[in-house]
Amino acid sequence: MRAVVTGCAGFIGSSLTDRLLSQGWEVVGIDSFEGYYPRSLKEANLVSAQRNEAFRLVEADLIELAAPGAPEPLAGIVASADHVYHLAAQPGVRGSWGRSFGTYVRNNVLATQALLECAKDHGVESFVCASSSSVYGDSATLPMEETAECRPFSPYGVTKLASEHLARLYARNFGLPTVSLRFFTVYGPRQRPDMAFNRFIRAALEDQPIQVFGDGSQTRDFTYISDIVDGILAAPKAPSGSLLNLGGGTRIPLSGALEVLASVMGREIRVQRADAQAGDVADTWASVERARDVIGFEPKVDLATGLSAEYAWLREAL
Ligand code: NAD
Repeated sequence: MRAVVTGCAGFIGSSLTDRLLSQGWEVVGIDSFEGYYPRSLKEANLVSAQRNEAFRLVEADLIELAAPGAPEPLAGIVASADHVYHLAAQPGVRGSWGRSFGTYVRNNVLATQALLECAKDHGVESFVCASSSSVYGDSATLPMEETAECRPFSPYGVTKLASEHLARLYARNFGLPTVSLRFFTVYGPRQRPDMAFNRFIRAALEDQPIQVFGDGSQTRDFTYISDIVDGILAAPKAPSGSLLNLGGGTRIPLSGALEVLASVMGREIRVQRADAQAGDVADTWASVERARDVIGFEPKVDLATGLSAEYAWLREAL
């Protein structure tokens, strides 16, 4: 089987790429090495894939690859694939305000549309898109169900909702078999350096206080990376145009997650409180009933086990 993985150098894209390669797939990975976080971290994510002959990296921006006259046209890359996994995006809620919103629109909406356009005429078996719990915003009832009204609370959430709509309408209009997956706070080895657990572990290792935005009562449904990869691989079983939550089933207040982290690290964690940040919602909690019914999704990794793995990875990486 052949896959195209966009965002292959990122946290989730590289984890998916490694799993596909380990299962004997051929993978063409596309990544622009966007400067949201250091290139060296993305290169490290790809070390094992780069050793595998079944992997080929196309270092390029999706929109540029789709433009007329691109050296290696995106349509040709997509045409050679059985499955497309679209993980490329500009991530992060807090950075999506102000002038950077243009980058979010470009990498999350325009890039998705460019890729869908290329895929619609090429008979791929599935087109799996990464979406986010951020599409729900702060008004959905808990647990969040796919049928809830989406009112994003951040510009990032707006762009992810737009990309979901694009995926669904290419399914409805052109029969492209798209599935959008709403990920809930993913963690584990290779987690992005701007994300909470990564920041917390690094600060604690350096004996620095960790900065917590808000009073710590906000809850999150944390999802371990291997559970997310399992869900992505099962997603092609879902009907075309589907939307599915992928959550870890470990919803916990941030203050509780810090206690688990302190026990995993075997050290006291000092906390420095900062104001709640614009765009951060009070709670996330996935209903995974639909994902369980439709693709057999069953998250397996509990928070203590997942945090131990992320801690071990960061201790090694630093
Ligand atoms: P990441 O930043 O580690 O990976 C995204 C990759 O996409 C980066 O390597 C970046 O260089 C690449 N990219 C961005 N724009 C591109 C473009 N125009 N052309 C080519 N490559 C481009 O982020 P991640 O945490 O791995 O997130 C992966 C996906 O999952 C994203 O769609 C994100 O919105 C979604 N998501 C992540 C989380 C999470 O907790 N990490 C939660 C919800 C949704």
